[in-house]
Amino acid sequence: MVNEETLEADVLYVGAGPATLASAIRLSKLAKSAGRTLNIALIEKAKSAGVHQLSGAVMDPSSFRDVLSDLGVEDPNLGTRVGDDHFYFLSSTQAFKLPFTPPSLRNHGNYIISLSELTAWLAQKAEQQGIDIFFGFPGQEILFEGDRVAGVKTGNKGIGRDGNRKSNYEPGVKIRAKVTVFGEGVRGSLTKVLVSRLGLDEGRRAQVYATGLKEIWKVLPEKHTLGCVMHTMGFPLGSSTFGGGFIYHAKNGLVYLGLVVGLDYEDPTLDLHGTFSRFKQHPIVRHLLEGGEMIRYGAKAIPEGGYYSMPRYWGDGFVIVGDGASFLNSCRLKGIHLAMKSGQLAAEAIFNAIEKNDCSQTMLSRYRDLVEGGSVKHELWGVRNFHQGFQSGLWGGLIQFSLQILSGGRGLFENPKIVEDHLHLGKVQDDIKGRWQHEKIVFDDKITFTKTTDVFRSGTIHHEDQPVHLHVSDTEICRTKCAQEFGNPCERFCPANVYEMVEKEPGRRELQINASNCVHCKTCDIKDPYGIITWVTPEGGGGPDYTGM
Ligand SMILES: Cc1cc2nc3c(=O)[nH]c(=O)nc-3n(C[C@H](O)[C@H](O)[C@H](O)COP(=O)(O)OP(=O)(O)OC[C@H]3O[C@@H](n4cnc5c(N)ncnc54)[C@H](O)[C@@H]3O)c2cc1C
Repeated sequence: MVNEETLEADVLYVGAGPATLASAIRLSKLAKSAGRTLNIALIEKAKSAGVHQLSGAVMDPSSFRDVLSDLGVEDPNLGTRVGDDHFYFLSSTQAFKLPFTPPSLRNHGNYIISLSELTAWLAQKAEQQGIDIFFGFPGQEILFEGDRVAGVKTGNKGIGRDGNRKSNYEPGVKIRAKVTVFGEGVRGSLTKVLVSRLGLDEGRRAQVYATGLKEIWKVLPEKHTLGCVMHTMGFPLGSSTFGGGFIYHAKNGLVYLGLVVGLDYEDPTLDLHGTFSRFKQHPIVRHLLEGGEMIRYGAKAIPEGGYYSMPRYWGDGFVIVGDGASFLNSCRLKGIHLAMKSGQLAAEAIFNAIEKNDCSQTMLSRYRDLVEGGSVKHELWGVRNFHQGFQSGLWGGLIQFSLQILSGGRGLFENPKIVEDHLHLGKVQDDIKGRWQHEKIVFDDKITFTKTTDVFRSGTIHHEDQPVHLHVSDTEICRTKCAQEFGNPCERFCPANVYEMVEKEPGRRELQINASNCVHCKTCDIKDPYGIITWVTPEGGGGPDYTGM
């Protein structure tokens, strides 16, 4: 019999991303300045710092400068200052440079960084401040006392695929804390439960998402322009699908290349990975990549809903920071500085609550006051209707966007209704405008790669002998209803080949879940049309290796 252990902390952070690390560093500074000692713990599902971080990334350095000031250290020179900044409209064969870059997309003063490297640096600094970080420990269950959050239980280790304990079995640990900070990033598995159980999204608009697919390339030296940033719209998405491309020329001759696709797309035959491959086949992109080498691949969802989709991000014994609470400016494709800022403001509210020995919802609502009274609200308010404006397609969206710029974010409609992404999916039989081309992509293994090759380059590893962490509540639906109505879109919206309909016996196709391929992007939990897929954390330490991403 192995007993469950219980640990006590003053503050428990779930997830080691920029939001929680900036927060823990601020909290520790506040405590030290007041001559207090706080027991601050942080759990992260990844095996080490930064390996589950995937971002573009061009960073607005404002909040990072605050971290440097909290630490009293010099700029560690982690990034490349943005130089040229271009915006292109792509047709299938041509690229048209916009004569000017919209103000919100200008990157003067920003830095091209690897978020994975930045996160590893932040984690190192946090540990030097005395913060305990437990890597390979996923938060799996919220400890509630009534409606108060009292901490989190971590996942068990050493359970076999059949559900039985193996010889290396270790039970999860209960970590109890005065305040639990949920910083799981986009579509957090615990945050989802928390929001639903406490109705934190009541009266708010639905959250909507995009999925970003990214590769890192080492390109030929003559094609590399250090600091150059390029954003695109148009091809390969057509006018009815939200999204666009990015190409950032980073240090060491590397190019960060990606495509972001709004998950409110309608066409069930759209294949996210195939669409990204088409982007790379565009002449302007192909030219850049030819002769180069693809080094890394990854994918991750992005919360797009903005201000009106934010759940209540404070409550009895908890706060939510970063992407998990929709602190992201989807117009600028920037969330890192807002994640850090939300964490820093949360730390101030938490410290005040702990000092007063009262971590209730009322005391922690100071976090909301700090958000609402400062730069975060100001930035998010200006783009509050941005994604919603594109509901009618690209051209309508651009008109709305122009009007939003002129009217301080309002545009034609204030806070229009939006519905969850999976409800947008049309049926295979529907006559869908701009239906995706059906011709199969031929992967040339030079510019375009199969999903299997790409997953290999994501460095993803999970122990094979563990319970499947993608819970499909009714696989019969996949075989029957979903096959007929949507043609099993999971095979196409998953960018990592996790879902496959295979013929197990003649004439009978069944769902096979290749869980060990999962890159933790959360797209399946969002886009599955019947809401029957639930993503939960796998055994600690498993997942992608996004070092350098
Ligand atoms: C393709 C793409 C491009 C982007 N480009 C940019 C850009 O150019 N500039 C910009 O500013 N932003 C960009 N963003 C957004 C930016 O990456 C996010 O806003 C930012 O990373 C959010 O930080 P976070 O700390 O909230 O979450 P994350 O960085 O996602 O960190 C969350 C951490 O929590 C861990 N975790 C999750 N669940 C659990 C659990 N249950 N238990 C333990 N650990 C858990 C995860 O492993 C992860 O390490 C981009 C995002 C994507 C996907």
